[in-house]
Amino acid sequence: MDIPTKDNQARDEEFRRARLRMVQYQIAGRDVRNETVLEAMRRVPRHEFVPPELWHEAYDDYPLPIGFGQTISQPYIVGSMTELLLPDKAKTVLEIGTGSGYQTAVLAEVFGTVVTVEIVPELSRQAQMVLNRLEYTSIAFHIGDGLMVPEGDDRFDAIIATAAPAVVPPELIVRLAPGGRMVLPVGAGAQCLKLVTRDCHGEIAFETLYSVRFVPLQRQ
Ligand code: SAH
Repeated sequence: MDIPTKDNQARDEEFRRARLRMVQYQIAGRDVRNETVLEAMRRVPRHEFVPPELWHEAYDDYPLPIGFGQTISQPYIVGSMTELLLPDKAKTVLEIGTGSGYQTAVLAEVFGTVVTVEIVPELSRQAQMVLNRLEYTSIAFHIGDGLMVPEGDDRFDAIIATAAPAVVPPELIVRLAPGGRMVLPVGAGAQCLKLVTRDCHGEIAFETLYSVRFVPLQRQ
C-alpha cells in the first residue's frame, strides 16, 4: 500500500483527470447515458488493474494485456455492457471472467452483490488483491469454469460474460431471474454482443447488438 506523499498525490490527481477525460470523451462522448454508470467509471481507478508498466495507457481507448493471454476490456465496452444490464443498487450480478477485476469494480459500484468467476487462478488472486485493497466488500470470488461455478441454483438479476462462447450457454440462461438481463459476446469467429432477457412470465428473448472482439470462453 502506498504511503501518501506529495508525489503520489500529484500522480493520483493526474490519473483522476485522465479518468474524467476518459468518461467525457470515450464513454459519455459515445452513447452511454446512465449517470450511475458514468459516476462509477469516474470513481474506479482503472490503472490499479493493469501492470505498472502500462499505467500511462490505463485511460486510453483500447484493451490492454493483463497476462495469461488475456486482456482488460476497452473502457467503452465496460461502460456500454454495464449500462445494458440496467444497474439497480438492490440487485445481484454474476460475472464470468474476472480478469483484471476492473469490470468487477464497476459492477460493485452499481449492484448490491457481485459474484465473479475466473478460470485462471492467478488472475483471480491478483484481482482479489487489488479489489480488497480498494475496499470493495460486496464481491464474492470463485475460481473455475463460470458455466459450472458457483454451484447451486442461485438466480441472478444480471449476468455478464467477458469471454465469448460459440453460442449462448443454456447454463447461464437458467441462472437468469425473472426480469433478469444478460449481456455477453457470442461467436466462434466473428463475435456479436448479445442481450438475453427473461420476462416476468419466464419467456426468454434474444437481441443482437454490435460487433465485438473478446477472448474465447474456455471450458474446464
Ligand atoms: N472483464 C475482464 C475481462 C478479462 S478477459 C477485464 O476487463 O479485465 C476474459 C476473462 O475470462 C479472462 O480472464 C479469462 O481467463 C476468463 N475466462 C475465460 N473462460 C472462462 C470461464 N469458462 N469461466 C470463467 N472465466 C473465464
